[in-house]
Amino acid sequence: MLRRLLLGITDLVYPKKCLACKDVLAPAESSKHVCAGCFSKIKFNIPPFCHSCGRHLEDFKTHKNLCPQCLRLTFNFDRAFSPCVYDGVVKELIHEFKYKGKVRLAKPLGALMADFIREYSLPMEYMDHILPMPLSKTRLREREFNQAHHLSTHLSGVFEKDMLDNVLTRTRHTRSQTELEMPERRKNILGSFKVTDRGAVKNKNILLIDDVLTTGATSSEAAGVLKEAGANIVFVLTLAN
Ligand SMILES: [Zn+2]
Ligand SMILES: [Zn+2]
Repeated sequence: MLRRLLLGITDLVYPKKCLACKDVLAPAESSKHVCAGCFSKIKFNIPPFCHSCGRHLEDFKTHKNLCPQCLRLTFNFDRAFSPCVYDGVVKELIHEFKYKGKVRLAKPLGALMADFIREYSLPMEYMDHILPMPLSKTRLREREFNQAHHLSTHLSGVFEKDMLDNVLTRTRHTRSQTELEMPERRKNILGSFKVTDRGAVKNKNILLIDDVLTTGATSSEAAGVLKEAGANIVFVLTLAN
């Protein structure tokens, strides 16, 4: 009771704002983090999906169900999926989540991923573990939290799957991938992951979680290291691509 009263007072002093457009949230929306207007502007990925990177395909009859990029490149993961397009409101929310420490966004953003899993019947019954994409120690020190870890915690709770923590680690700090093009990204990330407990991943099907899939170089390198350690299937699920 006292807690609720105190929370109510905080709301009066600091009215809750939509984390995307920064407008004050209406009382009915105050339990949410995004206003209805912004939520309606989220760009969702719609089928058909590329059978490799998971991006929307323009045409149902695409060769091998692959997008033009995936016809040229191969990845070490089996398939990647994303509920949203990395643009507009979602891009803004990921920025708030990742760089501005809005950890409370893990729940609504994780819920978008969970909804996608249900809507498109991702075979969770075959997945043994959920594994968050690790950050390097330097990056973790800068940001103080790993966004992929928070999304994984949410999904592992919803689907009652074991989360493998610290089984996949970064061996070194790599330059930010954002300023690099393929194939520099692949070169930059090469050899930067390590599996610390091979027994934990051997013959297991793993769902690798991250916030964004851009070129897929990071996810591919991580999946390759997991497979070298004996992992069976590696699917990648990111919030956006
Ligand atoms: Zn808004
Ligand atoms: Zn593709």
